[in-house]
Amino acid sequence: MDLVLATRSSHKLGEIRKILAVVPGLRVLDLDEVGAPYDAAEEDLEPYDTFEENAASKASHFQEITGLPTVADDSGIMIDLLGGAPGVRSKRFAPERGLEGLARDQANNEHLLALLGDAALPKRSARYVCVAVLDRGDPNDVTQVRGEAPGLILDAPRGSGGFGYDPLFFDEELGQTFAEIAPEEKNARSHRGKA
Ligand code: IMP
Repeated sequence: MDLVLATRSSHKLGEIRKILAVVPGLRVLDLDEVGAPYDAAEEDLEPYDTFEENAASKASHFQEITGLPTVADDSGIMIDLLGGAPGVRSKRFAPERGLEGLARDQANNEHLLALLGDAALPKRSARYVCVAVLDRGDPNDVTQVRGEAPGLILDAPRGSGGFGYDPLFFDEELGQTFAEIAPEEKNARSHRGKA
């Protein structure tokens, strides 16, 4: 079976490819491989307030373009002290505009640290959320799953693996951040791996 992974994030792509590698008989194709070049209209695909609606919107858009079963994920981090923010707005949390990649991740992390100030570690509880949607082209046969991973937000980054908020995201059971653990370990414990 061919399955399209509808994401432009190379980090997500790498993680999801490894997660799905255990499924026999599955050929995972990214958007470049199915000839779906970037289109600026994609930036408007996730305007909703829930991970579920955004993931479904992305999956359905690319299913229609490719004609193949398509998986999309919408994910983010929810901070208890911030009332669940940034949630679906995790990618563009920092007020600075026009940043991409590592620069954007760093700005987001600095913004988060500034908002949490000197709150004590036990109060800095958070969770990663991932909703993945599989759209097969039939609106009555859409699969939706949700995975969550709990953690604490450190007051300084640790580690160089992962992406996004991972250097601040501390897994209490492991005693390490998601940027300090091996990719396989992250996939075994992460919101995306669980979903
Ligand atoms: P999306 O592309 O709209 O789903 O945005 C997801 C955003 O949530 C990313 O840009 C990151 O800021 C954050 N995020 C989601 N999953 C992870 C993860 O596994 N590690 C670090 N940050 C993540």
